[in-house]
This record gives sequence, C-alpha cells and structure tokens, in this order.
Amino acid sequence: MQAGSEPFGTSSTADALDPLTSLFGAGPATILTGAGISTDSGIPDYRGAGSPPRTPMRIDQFLDDERYRQRFWAGARVGALHRQGIEPNAGHRAVAALEAAGLLNGVITQNVDGLHRRAGSRTVVELHGSGATVRCLPAGHRWQRAEVLAWFDVANPGFVERSADAEITSDGDADVADTAGTVVPVCPACGGMLRPDVVYFGEHVDPQVFAAAGDLIEHAHGLVVAGSSLAVNTGVRLVHRAERRGIPVAVINRGPTSIDGRGSVRVRIDGGTSETLSALAERLGV
Ligand SMILES: [Zn+2]
Repeated sequence: MQAGSEPFGTSSTADALDPLTSLFGAGPATILTGAGISTDSGIPDYRGAGSPPRTPMRIDQFLDDERYRQRFWAGARVGALHRQGIEPNAGHRAVAALEAAGLLNGVITQNVDGLHRRAGSRTVVELHGSGATVRCLPAGHRWQRAEVLAWFDVANPGFVERSADAEITSDGDADVADTAGTVVPVCPACGGMLRPDVVYFGEHVDPQVFAAAGDLIEHAHGLVVAGSSLAVNTGVRLVHRAERRGIPVAVINRGPTSIDGRGSVRVRIDGGTSETLSALAERLGV
C-alpha cells in the first residue's frame, strides 16, 4: 500500500454510489469495460469469480496446426447457434445512456462481443478487436464472421445437424468432439488462411487502437473501470495514463483487481456492473 493512502476496503454499492456519482461532477469521464459487463448477457467470464478455470486457445496453436483450426471453426459454427439470443444488458444500456447525456466521452472495452455498439454507444474503442470480423493472414482481407460461417456450412454439409448438441465452452464457442475431416474456410479473395480479427493472448493491441483509447482518457475528468480484474497489461497501462493526469479512478468489479489499493482508486465497488451502472445513471438523472 502506498504511504498516505487510505486503507483499502471494498464498499457496498449503496455506500459507494455517492463518491461514484461525484466523480462525474468535474466533467465527462471515460469508462473501461471488461468481460464482467457482459456476463449478465450470458457470456461467461473465464477470469471471474466462480467460473471454472479454462485456458483459451493460443493463437500460435491456431496458426501452426490445422487440427486447432478445424476445432476452432467447428466450435465457432455450433457456438453461433447459441449466440443468437445474446443481447446487451442493463450495464451496456447505462453506458450508452451516460454517453448520450454527455457524462461519458466514450467507452474503451476489452470485450470483442460488440454489445456496447448494439446498446447504442457511439464512441467505442475495441482494444482486442471484434469477434464479428475475420481477416486473412496474407493480405488482411476482412469478412464478416457470419458469412465465413455460411461458407463453412457449404464446405461441411450436415455438420451443424450432427454437432448442434455439443457443449458450449466458457469462451462462447462449442466443444465439438470429433472435428477430423472438417474443411476449414479460406479467404475467397486470395485463398489465404482466415483468422478471427481479435487480439489473442501473446499478441499486441494495435498501436492506433491503443492511441485512440489513450486519447479518450487524455480528455476525461475521471476513469471508471467496470467488470475487469485488469489482468491484461493494456488495461493497466490505461490506468497509469489516468494516474499521470491525476484524474480519479473508480473500479466496479466482482472480486479483486490488480489495481486494488492504489492511491488513484478513489471508489471501489465490489459488485455487479448491471446494477451499479444502472443505479449510477439513475442518480445522475439519466
Ligand atoms: Zn485474403
């Protein structure tokens, strides 16, 4: 703990709502969101409290081994059947409403689920890319994931019918038992390998995307971290950016985070993002 800072303690939502509300008194803030804001939409958070540990696929496995690509696309295809009912939740809607009211200058998200935009947020920086997009390795041709999955169906007749009851994993895709012989889609423009247009573990955030995130914080009067344990270095670097500017940081997260106890963290709420952000929007008259 830093010398001179208050002893760290988590607050109940009711106790901490006043300081959280007052953080917006100086002007618009920036919000940084992680997987925790999407759990109420039915997207599991593999780092969150109570979820089973699971190691996500590493991109080098995907790039090096056809069997991983077969497993990935098969899982993505069956997973898409289950994603159809996923909708933005009250937390996403509160974020969009706060932006529309001029209380947030934008949202920086570690999520690739696209739910902030669907909820109506306009300025969205997707640090880890978008799960709705696929790109080819040789030339960077970009395609919609939905159209790539349609090509998968053409190349693998009967696959969906055979595999529809596969178990859904914590990354939202399915764990299809037998994927040997599965035909993996390739780029129709150049024949190259296709990969999700998202940043995997061990990969770097696009510098332009990171700059856009930093720019939001540069013009903000506070930073709210919602639904992230800040286990990823990029998120921590953005908190450091806020600290260098001397703006207050609020953290709303179930379970511990990597910045708990830092002097910049003026508000710490150990609670859910849906209820906390909804209550915040209500307090602020949004
Ligand atoms: Zn291509």
